[in-house]
Amino acid sequence: MQEDKLIKTEFQIFEEAGKSFNYEEKEIELNLNSGEVLVKVLLSTICGSDLHTIEGKRKEDVPCILGHEAVGEIIRINDRKGFEIGDRVTWTIADSCGKCAACTDYGLPEKCHELFKYGHASINKGSGLNGCYSNIIHIRRGTHLVKVPEVVSNPMAAPANCALATMVNAVSQLKKVPKKVVVQGGGLLGVYACALLEEMGVSEIYCSDINLDRFDIIGKFGAVPVDGRDMQKATAFLLDRLGDGADAIIEVAGVKELIPQGISLLRPGGEYVLVGLVHPDSELNITAEQIIRKCLTVRGVHNYAPWHLEEAIDFLERNHRNFPFGELVSPPFNLENLEEAVMEAKKQHWFRVSVKPKHK
Ligand SMILES: [Zn+2]
Ligand SMILES: [Zn+2]
Repeated sequence: MQEDKLIKTEFQIFEEAGKSFNYEEKEIELNLNSGEVLVKVLLSTICGSDLHTIEGKRKEDVPCILGHEAVGEIIRINDRKGFEIGDRVTWTIADSCGKCAACTDYGLPEKCHELFKYGHASINKGSGLNGCYSNIIHIRRGTHLVKVPEVVSNPMAAPANCALATMVNAVSQLKKVPKKVVVQGGGLLGVYACALLEEMGVSEIYCSDINLDRFDIIGKFGAVPVDGRDMQKATAFLLDRLGDGADAIIEVAGVKELIPQGISLLRPGGEYVLVGLVHPDSELNITAEQIIRKCLTVRGVHNYAPWHLEEAIDFLERNHRNFPFGELVSPPFNLENLEEAVMEAKKQHWFRVSVKPKHK
């Protein structure tokens, strides 16, 4: 099962914001411990949080291999039940211990006391192959693997282990199937939310964004697009449409000024799920009284648990024909040209820009 041999690697090292990536190719010797898996990266996608790191808005343990959204194929495996070499898989971005209070009592393995996150760890940890801007990633024992069915293509599957699984988590927080929902933000998280809500049977879904180029896709993912450039106008439009108010609001825009709008749009007893405002510039201009008098529930969602990734892949399998998931992702850039791919991602022409390694 375990064979020690050299593997050919290529990867991009991130050192600090404002500095170019360092592209390296080398052969390394790697031993797998029990439960570990080596995965050949087939396709990765550039997540917004990577752009934040590259722009210096977020700190990582450097030097590191960034990239955490990907799909791959198992090339070496040591003692993993149910998986074998050649399986096409995705994996949780977090490795968790399965024993601490967060993993057991709280039902939040994504908050494990021993948490390790791919694409966010130094190259000095373990084998160093901890990120997806690489041809090989070293998967740890406490990481949940999910097989990707054939009907789910690589571009469809790549963003599943960050963006889609997070949104599965977000919509699963809703206490019952709502009738009317507003999604604040029409980026990748937003359009995934719309599709998930439509599949759940939500009858009215509105998705606001300031980028009108996204409206066509927002419509194809089951929502009425709302022009958010003028917040007052957008609020008036939504209040008119919603009648008594929205049953739920899902925030994925990361813009704190949208929260008072959301509070005003919710009906009594409504639910607010916060996902996007995961940065320090998120002080809110609302009062506790507004939450209390409307009997609102406010829920924060950060990352996800293994069962959300399972559901994300099932959702893609069930809906591969219902929504144009493939249209969200750019044709692949070569890993060697990661800088160009990052420039393309910053332009926001695509919901995700994809990257592919040269070495198979
Ligand atoms: Zn991400
Ligand atoms: Zn744990």
